[in-house]
Amino acid sequence: MTYAELANPGILTQPVYEPGKPIETVARELGLDPAGIIKLASNENPSGPSPKALAAAQRALQDAQLYPDGGYFALRQKLAQRTGLGLDQFILGSGSNEVIELLGHAFLSPGVECVMHQSAFLVYKLVTLMFGAKPVEVPLAPGLRQDLPSLLAAVTPRTRLVFLASPANPVGATNTAEELAGLAHALPPHVILVFDEAYSDFLETPPDIRPWIAEGRKIIGLKTFSKIYGLAALRVGYGYASRELIALVQRVRQPFNVSGVSAAAALGALDDDEFVARCRKENQAGLLQLADGVRTLGLEYVPGGGNFLLVKVGDGGAVFDALQRQGVITRPVKGYGLPEWLRVTVGTPEQNRRFLRNLRTTI
Ligand SMILES: *Cc1c(COP(=O)(O)O)cnc(C)c1O
Repeated sequence: MTYAELANPGILTQPVYEPGKPIETVARELGLDPAGIIKLASNENPSGPSPKALAAAQRALQDAQLYPDGGYFALRQKLAQRTGLGLDQFILGSGSNEVIELLGHAFLSPGVECVMHQSAFLVYKLVTLMFGAKPVEVPLAPGLRQDLPSLLAAVTPRTRLVFLASPANPVGATNTAEELAGLAHALPPHVILVFDEAYSDFLETPPDIRPWIAEGRKIIGLKTFSKIYGLAALRVGYGYASRELIALVQRVRQPFNVSGVSAAAALGALDDDEFVARCRKENQAGLLQLADGVRTLGLEYVPGGGNFLLVKVGDGGAVFDALQRQGVITRPVKGYGLPEWLRVTVGTPEQNRRFLRNLRTTI
């Protein structure tokens, strides 16, 4: 008997999630000075965290000997105040990735199906397989667009969850509020729409799913503090939905799944709307800078609304390697079935310039 034979079969068929390479790893592997390396690989915020989030985290560290409030009352109350939803309509996770896994615990088992687009965020498929459920992947429309009627057409009596991100990662495709409303209203009552809003903070006017929750549509929104809030290292995100859905998912959450420092930082981050507004503006300028730059190089790209650009570079793996040797870390997306493309995160104006300069010499 091998350990693999003893394992949950779902975990043996999972693809491997390849995260963006840390600066220290690249420096060690390639013998480069870490100070000269820039990371545009994980959609992190080039401005860092808000000073208010940092100050709150530092204060919380003083109480590190205490378990946090496992109900995260203060953070959920703040989220409730800001959204007009009830406190019991929120569940916190160690990143919104954990909320995706909690949805798996609550709703997935062998025999059920999850519908998602091809090249969707890998965690949807990982979690689906982990629980022995079947991923049903719907091809993207030309131009790597997300066609929602074809997502709907893939729903069967066995479907439990439909995963959709807008803006999507890694493709960047962004759907309109009308398209989303069409999907939310057409899904049958045995299906839950998992609407991943990791990048919605970068949009000027993101779609608002709260009316659909209020109407009783089966939908959960997922948000994260890892992207525009610049707190990726602290691992905090949340889901919001009807009280009934949240109560079920709370049953599978470990009591202290988010650290007290992380919850405090998130609370501080929510007090800094100016920081978020500034980051949104700077990101829009950075997206334009990158799009203009790659267009000048004659390269195709997907216009999207996140904090990254997907660029068609030919041999994505080779260009990734060449850029990395020059100290610019980007993200190859071959594992998403997109071997000709490269994903680059919006950096500071100077980092964007450096990426474009180095890209010119590598393609
Ligand atoms: C970054 C990201 C998340 C959230 O990541 P966490 O750090 O776990 O909060 C969720 N979905 C998508 C599509 C993402 O890109």
